[in-house]
Amino acid sequence: MKPAIVMKFGGTSVADPEKIQRAAERAIALKRGGRSIVVVVSAPGKMTDELLQLARQITPSAQGRELDALVSTGETISISLFAMALAARGCPAISLTGPQAGVEADDNHTRSTITRIRPARILRELKAGKVVVVAGFQARNPKGEITTLGRGGSDLSAVAVAAALKAERCEIYTDVKGVYTADPRLVSQARLIKRVSYEEMLELSAAGAQVMLSRSIEVAKRYGVTIHVRSSFHPSSGTRIESLSEEKMEEAHVSSLALDKSEIRLSIVGVPDRPGVAAKVLAKLADAGIPVDLIVQSAPTTAGVNDISFMTPRAHAEDAKKALASLTLKLGARGVDLQDRVVKVTAVGTGFRRHPRIAAAMFATLAKARINIQMISTSDLRVSCVIDRAHGEKALRLLHAAFGLGKKRR
Ligand code: ASP
Ligand code: MG
Repeated sequence: MKPAIVMKFGGTSVADPEKIQRAAERAIALKRGGRSIVVVVSAPGKMTDELLQLARQITPSAQGRELDALVSTGETISISLFAMALAARGCPAISLTGPQAGVEADDNHTRSTITRIRPARILRELKAGKVVVVAGFQARNPKGEITTLGRGGSDLSAVAVAAALKAERCEIYTDVKGVYTADPRLVSQARLIKRVSYEEMLELSAAGAQVMLSRSIEVAKRYGVTIHVRSSFHPSSGTRIESLSEEKMEEAHVSSLALDKSEIRLSIVGVPDRPGVAAKVLAKLADAGIPVDLIVQSAPTTAGVNDISFMTPRAHAEDAKKALASLTLKLGARGVDLQDRVVKVTAVGTGFRRHPRIAAAMFATLAKARINIQMISTSDLRVSCVIDRAHGEKALRLLHAAFGLGKKRR
């Protein structure tokens, strides 16, 4: 048996019966080429959101086992309809829930981590010549209960199944054509990228590009699963996410830009410059379950105080502010400052450390447009600048042109 191909269809690709039929035809076309096919599907359209809404109408505190029993049903609907669509076209097929497919996960209901996949059942069905249709998002926990992998988790299911089967690749069918040099809705010059490395893709997700769940890219990188992001509705060949080729390794370049509007900036200002202060601030935020990104501590002033600033998702703004406010007295800080009119613009690529000109070009482009940079964070793969929200889209367009992303071919 040749290595299998895993095809994952997201919610928009199975949103209605007609789309399911079309997706089924794509699976059949690949199977005709003599390949073993595993299909992984999400719940149709917005069904997961609707199921969560439904639970909330019963009780605002729905959680754990029963919530998972409910929200996992969207995927169960998709697998059965998909298998029926295949069978109706004369293609032998079988639907498997996550547990039936051997997807095992830990006990953390509604946000489980996959612990292993026992692929025996999938392999048996493939050998029998069937297309195997697996429910994404679902898994079996150690107690034998159904659990789910967190929002967007069917990407993770697909990549993990591909890894367990040593599949040739994992094709992710979605409503965009692939990964772009920038969001094409904001930058008309944006171009589809043919190839991108796992590392760059992880940076892009962290920078706010919403192509795939980043946990799934981490798994793909660890197991060497080639991902192929493509559109369900368009024949274009999409973007491959794979290891960086060796000739590219030494090259420095910017491959794409991302604009993140989902975060706010918080600062605790005038904190005494003493060992242990940053640790206390971060511990407080960690205890409150607040994700932080781009932490910056300013150099101490002559008065012996400094500011600690960071970015956090808008949804956590109030909790984070409260957590910090409770610390100001204890630390003898001056106060807390929340700035919500900010965005983060990020250039992702490789070789930034050896080639500081890339960061310099970014700062110069913003300076020329008189856009003030409030915070900067860099790594070998990324430069992020926090700027005023009013300038976000303009900055994106200017940087796209400055780095020549509209023309370059890779
Ligand atoms: N249906 C789940 C969600 O909407 C899983 C997924 O689509 O990946 O989050
Ligand atoms: Mg979804």
